[in-house]
Amino acid sequence: MGFKSNARKKRQQSGADSSSKKSSEEFVGQVKCDVSGCKNWADKKVGGRKLAFDRAADVWGESGLSSDSRRVKICKSCYRTWKKAKKDEPTEWS
Ligand SMILES: [Zn+2]
Repeated sequence: MGFKSNARKKRQQSGADSSSKKSSEEFVGQVKCDVSGCKNWADKKVGGRKLAFDRAADVWGESGLSSDSRRVKICKSCYRTWKKAKKDEPTEWS
């Protein structure tokens, strides 16, 4: 009995160690970035943000967003893009 379970354990170990070495490198989130073409995660954990659709559409256009809800979720790098684009825009034009 003891011998048998021992053997099974051994087999499991040797079978698993070939391709289970990438654990913390790749984050798997639940919220996808709504910028079309972007494959990043927009989870809060990884710096994702929510933007009002109109504000996001200012930068990517309505067709550049894969969501048409009033709030779009964008990833960290898209948020940076957005912020930058917004910065270039003159804010005080009175
Ligand atoms: Zn993105």
